Amino acid sequence: MLHKQKWLLVLLIAVLLIPQTATAAKSEGISKNKSHSSKVIYLTFDDGPTAHTMQLLDILDQYNAKATFFMLGPHMERFPAATKRIVKEGNGLGLHGVTHVVSKFYSSPYSAYKEMKGANESLHKVTGKYTSLVRTPYGSKPYLKKSYRDIMLSTGGFHLWDWNVDSLDWKYKKDHQKVYNNVMSEVKSAERRGMDPVILMHDQPATLKVLPSVLKELKAEGYQFKILDKQVRPLNFWNDRR
Ligand SMILES: [Zn+2]
Repeated sequence: MLHKQKWLLVLLIAVLLIPQTATAAKSEGISKNKSHSSKVIYLTFDDGPTAHTMQLLDILDQYNAKATFFMLGPHMERFPAATKRIVKEGNGLGLHGVTHVVSKFYSSPYSAYKEMKGANESLHKVTGKYTSLVRTPYGSKPYLKKSYRDIMLSTGGFHLWDWNVDSLDWKYKKDHQKVYNNVMSEVKSAERRGMDPVILMHDQPATLKVLPSVLKELKAEGYQFKILDKQVRPLNFWNDRR
């Protein structure tokens, strides 16, 4: 090949490649919290541990699934064996405060922060571990305004998590089909928006009844169950990425 022709070929290849690179960068920007090509889903359970956590963990084991638990301080101390098993089996660790009472938890920016710190001390007492992941009672909106977040996230170094799929398992305790349908349709909706689904569920008996069919279907659809940790970019209603 002549020298001039070689350069023309190089130029042609470069022209063909540039638009593809630009398109890839653009779609990455749109895809929000998605940073990979495989289907990933995050199961989360609030308000535990409880007398039913062992059963919940058995179900997760059956489907080879992991979840993230946002736990209450007094519950961890009341159910130490369940708390230890959550840790031992490689599940994600999160805090949900101490009282779960709106008038107490949100009475001041410091009260919210102190509840998370208190719950972290309980986790440490029971398991020897600390975590920096938090979910506030009833979600962070409307109560967790900027002054609250500044103390919790900047001073305290916590990472705030809400959800993008509400199973409504707290509402439909007797209608399992409704919970199942709701999870599946909201998972599809999160997918359409280019987001990894983060499912809110509760550590309670009613949820155990619907959990196996939910896990079975999500697995069949090719989802991988992953845990939240401080490496995952926080998803919350304020878009606060601290
Ligand atoms: Zn809760």
